[in-house]
Amino acid sequence: MNHYKKKLPAIKAFAFDVDGVLTDGSVQVSDRGDLLRTYNAKDGLAIRMAIDAGYPIAIISGGASETICRRFTMLGIREEDIYLRSRIKTPDLLDFCRKYDLQPAEVAFIGDDLPDVAPMRCAGLSCCPSDAVPEVLAVAEYISPCRGGAGCVRDIIEQVLKIQQRW
Ligand SMILES: [Mg+2]
Repeated sequence: MNHYKKKLPAIKAFAFDVDGVLTDGSVQVSDRGDLLRTYNAKDGLAIRMAIDAGYPIAIISGGASETICRRFTMLGIREEDIYLRSRIKTPDLLDFCRKYDLQPAEVAFIGDDLPDVAPMRCAGLSCCPSDAVPEVLAVAEYISPCRGGAGCVRDIIEQVLKIQQRW
């Protein structure tokens, strides 16, 4: 389980699923039909710190809500790096890599459910929250002790930036 730590120094970018990773997976539907998600401020701070330190970050979500875009552009993620309605996520991960001239091996991917298994296998470091589905837990090189929406993104960004002395 500790072998993931050997990969931390090579990570230059991050890619995150949204539901179940940056949220606890619950989605509220308002009377108007808007989908409302709850995000974690500690994850948000870590994302902002990583952006400020120059790490590209991609959001790759099957969700379609514009509020997802608003949340992450507010944190400094570029709109073109927010992939919504992503059903097959690996091509979006590769597109993100191309834009920044990165190898997939240089990206840490965090996912929690079946659409994340393929991009996790493609990325250099595959991570998941403690409450990911069994198929994801089986392929993850690092399982955070935190649940989705409860600091798993903070945990992983913090470990990478700390080992690279950018925290
Ligand atoms: Mg998910």
